[in-house]
Amino acid sequence: MKRDKEFTPTHAQLTPYYTETRHDFSPEEILELFALPFNDLIFKAAQIHRQNHNPNAVQISTLLSIKTGSCPENCKYCPQSAHYNTGLEKESLMALDKILEAANAAREAGASRFCMGAAWRNLHDRDVEKICKIVDEVKKTGLETCMTLGMLTESQSKQLKDAGLDYYNHNIDSSPEFYSEIITTRNFEDRLNTLKNVRDAGLNVCSGGIVGMGETRTDRAKMLIVLANLPKHPESVPINMLVKVAGTPMAEVQELDQFEFIRTIAVARIMMPKSVVRLSAGRENMNEQTQSLCFLAGANSIFYGEKLLTTSNPEMERDKRLFEKLGVVGK
Ligand code: SF4
Repeated sequence: MKRDKEFTPTHAQLTPYYTETRHDFSPEEILELFALPFNDLIFKAAQIHRQNHNPNAVQISTLLSIKTGSCPENCKYCPQSAHYNTGLEKESLMALDKILEAANAAREAGASRFCMGAAWRNLHDRDVEKICKIVDEVKKTGLETCMTLGMLTESQSKQLKDAGLDYYNHNIDSSPEFYSEIITTRNFEDRLNTLKNVRDAGLNVCSGGIVGMGETRTDRAKMLIVLANLPKHPESVPINMLVKVAGTPMAEVQELDQFEFIRTIAVARIMMPKSVVRLSAGRENMNEQTQSLCFLAGANSIFYGEKLLTTSNPEMERDKRLFEKLGVVGK
């Protein structure tokens, strides 16, 4: 057999994989992982994935916007921000029966978790009772519940936990250094405070970020380091690819190479071996091969968006066909 005499494995190639859950990652170490040859990185991530999860199962969550638009925050990527005109139709808090209709449709379509999002800067105490009622009723459908409502106080987090909420989503979006480039109406510390309140209340944490916003690889590494170096890894880590929306300041940002996106998934998997890594926004712009590489690299959850809740939806059918081709089961 012909051998490559020049081949000298690097430290990162030789290190088999982390066997323990770690919270002490350094930027140098993570940049070394990012820089591995693609095959080595994916192989390493796939090994860790197999050690900790069924590699042929993908969790399905459904996302419903229960209050849309007019958000006072200025996240540069978001069509729901009141700071940008994207032509989005604004809606006030959705009626409970409509939410339950959507939850039942999601369950029938195969979702196991129902994520509800409200475009608020923070949850107001006046809305807590309504939100708790929603959580209680959605839980009765048999679905797990997840909410994303902006910043939460300690006592609000406890109230949501008592109402039966399973997960709270609060993304850190990017690295601490890049954060002020995309949002100026709150700071990175605010995000961490809410994550602490959520964790202290005993809720499962869903927290990830967005890539492709013009950040550097170092920013992507640092974002993952913040998540992995939390006292406990988030149970769920959504990695989003920016969806460029006309009217937002990020409409024209330069496209991120999809291999870099797959690398980000792989590094997240290696750093947070037990977490569920979710292939989130931007999936609709990825072909089947890119999505498959993401699954191989350790992504094991996807979103079915709210617009996918109607029957015989072509996008949902496409997902089902892809799962069949890959021998992957949705759960
Ligand atoms: S806080 Fe959420 S809804 Fe509001 S602008 Fe930012 S991303 Fe959009």
